[in-house]
Amino acid sequence: MENLYEKTKFILKKYKISANKSLGQNFLINDSVVDKIVESADVNKEDLIIEIGPGLGNLTEFLLQKAGKVIAIELDQRMLEILTDRFSMYNNFEIINEDVLKVDLNNLIKLNKNSEIKKVKIVANLPYYITTPIIMKLLEEKLDIETITVMVQKEVADRLIATPGEKLSGAITYCVYYYATSESVTIVENNSFIPEPEVNSEVIKLSIRKNAPINLLDEQKFFKLIKASFMQRRKTLINALVNGGILQNKDKAKKLFDDLKLDYNTRGESLSIEQFAEISNYIVKNENLN
Ligand code: SAM
Repeated sequence: MENLYEKTKFILKKYKISANKSLGQNFLINDSVVDKIVESADVNKEDLIIEIGPGLGNLTEFLLQKAGKVIAIELDQRMLEILTDRFSMYNNFEIINEDVLKVDLNNLIKLNKNSEIKKVKIVANLPYYITTPIIMKLLEEKLDIETITVMVQKEVADRLIATPGEKLSGAITYCVYYYATSESVTIVENNSFIPEPEVNSEVIKLSIRKNAPINLLDEQKFFKLIKASFMQRRKTLINALVNGGILQNKDKAKKLFDDLKLDYNTRGESLSIEQFAEISNYIVKNENLN
């Protein structure tokens, strides 16, 4: 077969299927983008690659050639037959027909790491409708993984890889930064997919940190603080924290802001991650504030 475009058309026709929009199916048909993803994920024979949403297998095929093993997690049952047929000659391929959000990834990794598989990497052209829950799951479950190389909607990429405190920052910016360093790999044109998505796309790479960039007295409280700070984006941070139940009342909030030398009009997105750590640690040390 000539290229991914031809191959994709052929497979869709052969199995008489079309893309399911509600599952976020946009099949990648641009060979050079696939090359860039595989190259930047730095796939080699000592790696287990967990691919989320293999679809017809356009990215999977290249991963299988380079990786020690590929485990693909796909929700759409129609893909099982296609993938099994397409990759019958590979003995390093496994497919799990389930919603990735329900898979116990820690256990999956534990079962597959052995003397031949030294590193685990996540690679995916993600279904855009659940990008945030997938990224949060991959980070919050503290998986034994090295990197996450994924295609996401460009606007989401901007937020994921922003530096905390930049204008685009949202709660997820701080979460990503806490767990990983991030970089943009490439911006991808809409015509790189069948069918073409309505939004622009970008491949990003997150490298899991070995050590946290800030010292926290209570990690859970820190993330609650971050989430509450961005729940009501148009409010000042003081109001967001009182309304979000992080601080008991405005007087206690003002005392915290005075003690930490923060302006009462401060908004969440203007604070650095270190400043949020200071607020969180202050609240832990002064339990009577909440
Ligand atoms: N990897 C293929 C490619 O690049 O051509 C397909 C990518 S497509 C953007 C997203 C894939 O994720 C689809 O195959 C879709 O069926 C699958 N998917 C959607 N929701 C899922 C879920 N909750 N768990 C696992 N896979 C899912």
